[in-house]
Amino acid sequence: MDDVIVVGAGPAGNNTALGLAREGYSVTVIDSRQEIGDKLCTGLIGRECASRFPIDPALVYREPQSARLVAPGAGPLFFETARPQACVVDRVAYVASFAQRARDAGALYLLGERVHRIVSQNQGVTVITGQGSRQARAVVLATGFGSPLVRQAGLGSVSDYVTGVQAVVSTDGADEVEVHLGSDVAPGFFSYLVPTLPGLALVGLLSRKKAQTRLTNFIQKLRQAGKIKEVVNEAATWGIPLRPLKRTYLDRMVVVGDAAGQVKPTTGGGIYYSLLAGEAAAQVLSEALADDDLSSGNLSRYQSRWRDLLAAEIEVGYSARRLYEFLTDQQIGALVKRAAANGFNSELVDASEGTFDWHGKMIAQIMGNPGLGGALRLINPLLARLAHRPDIGTAQPQTTPAYHD
Ligand SMILES: Cc1cc2nc3c(=O)[nH]c(=O)nc-3n(C[C@H](O)[C@H](O)[C@H](O)COP(=O)(O)OP(=O)(O)OC[C@H]3O[C@@H](n4cnc5c(N)ncnc54)[C@H](O)[C@@H]3O)c2cc1C
Repeated sequence: MDDVIVVGAGPAGNNTALGLAREGYSVTVIDSRQEIGDKLCTGLIGRECASRFPIDPALVYREPQSARLVAPGAGPLFFETARPQACVVDRVAYVASFAQRARDAGALYLLGERVHRIVSQNQGVTVITGQGSRQARAVVLATGFGSPLVRQAGLGSVSDYVTGVQAVVSTDGADEVEVHLGSDVAPGFFSYLVPTLPGLALVGLLSRKKAQTRLTNFIQKLRQAGKIKEVVNEAATWGIPLRPLKRTYLDRMVVVGDAAGQVKPTTGGGIYYSLLAGEAAAQVLSEALADDDLSSGNLSRYQSRWRDLLAAEIEVGYSARRLYEFLTDQQIGALVKRAAANGFNSELVDASEGTFDWHGKMIAQIMGNPGLGGALRLINPLLARLAHRPDIGTAQPQTTPAYHD
């Protein structure tokens, strides 16, 4: 019997496995994919993430120091930082580097094997896969967005999510990150162009509806503007949770990463939060294994730990996201113009050192800005209040589509 079986070898699962294997526990990681980390993603991580969970410099494609924001009815707004706040990385290799370290510490990886069911008994858990079954003292669900295993366990589904769609395109040397707002490209969300290797870029967007069609239109728009040449890899879609699960632990089980909804609701970025939550899960499980107390009461400390780290950020980010979703194109354009006129973009950049992954401070700054916060309150006083008073935890879970290959 293993000490722990981790289902899912994404950032969340690998970092949990690494923490447990380093403590000397026997860990098996099972993933249905053949290639670790090969999941739809842009690979943007913040400076804090790269410093806390270092990356081999050879895996960094770019370290952008500027971005262009394009909004309806407003000229482009530029953001420039004195030093890079984020980097675009080879996501597959970055995620695989955690798995390699977990292996070096003794973890066993079973790839190309799908877990179908988990049966919990008094003495342990049985994990049933397409190839057989394995037993462990505890199990970690790090299965990403929309996993049926989370529902099977009785933990419900995340109560809100969005679809991400992305394609690889060739460029004539596009150098700058671009973010486009407005209902013609991505109503309530945003679309992006992120240069990666020389001559290549990722083009994508988040949308509640018609994500594929909207991406086709966005690609067309960028092509007409001479920004991109051809689509190199066809568009793929994947779900992104916008709210966390209410409960992320049971007897002998914890849920980590996208499966638990530990994602920034503003941008949909989840690599850093998955790594942090994986670390918290490994710490709590190590202590619980040492005490031989894997009861839900003892594992509830995992939920307290990750919520201490992330919950406030996720809550305020979600409220800001909902507020943004109610703005019209005209209002978005007016706000962007106002920000450009009073130099708020530079102010935001100056104060944003290290906040790539922590948006609460930035949101507070926007709401506190006399021009922007005042205008947002005028536009919709109720929603502006909501941005400060999130009601997380009251929404009913809804069924999410099964996003798995
Ligand atoms: C278009 C798009 C762009 C994104 N861009 C960024 C970005 O730039 N920066 C950022 O920080 N985040 C980004 N994200 C989000 C980020 O990719 C996720 O938050 C992150 O990968 C979550 O890690 P995870 O380990 O929880 O899940 P995943 O990375 O999804 O890993 C889950 C693993 O579990 C496996 N699995 C699932 N079910 C089973 C099963 N039954 N049996 C066995 N294995 C199973 C899967 O094969 C998968 O390997 C993006 C997401 C999308 C959709």
